[in-house]
Amino acid sequence: MTLGNLRDLYQQVILEHYKKPKHKGKTNPVHRYQRGHNPSCGDTIELTLQLNETGDRIEDVKFDGQGCAIAIASADLMAGALRGKSTSEALAMVQRFQEMMKGQGEFPQEQRKLNVMQGVSQFPVRIKCATLTWHTLKAALESSSGNHLEGFVSNEKEEA
Ligand code: ZN
Repeated sequence: MTLGNLRDLYQQVILEHYKKPKHKGKTNPVHRYQRGHNPSCGDTIELTLQLNETGDRIEDVKFDGQGCAIAIASADLMAGALRGKSTSEALAMVQRFQEMMKGQGEFPQEQRKLNVMQGVSQFPVRIKCATLTWHTLKAALESSSGNHLEGFVSNEKEEA
């Protein structure tokens, strides 16, 4: 497969997740709520998490919001990859995704679906679209359940 074909394939997968997201909506119940905004493109993501009884494992993740194909596809892919992960595993995935956007490394076999976003690292203006959902996740995991209604994160000041 040539690099061109591979890119087309990735684009197809991204468009598919954008058009038919599998994880859109709200978890029931909502244990964490976080809104994220990417001013440079106008993407807005509302992330909800359902955790286990001890609050250290993710049982379900859903997202809502509006954004470009990359932002929505990234959120959908992330939500699918997070089910059953511990919160510390999830935070390590945030780190790994950010590194992948810098062109450093990728996800291992069991999470290889996320590598579809790898191509975005070649388009600096789009990186914030792809990382928005991960920034939002990080904020959601680091917030306590008590202030979930206030949850809002913007990546305006973040470096790409
Ligand atoms: Zn965007």
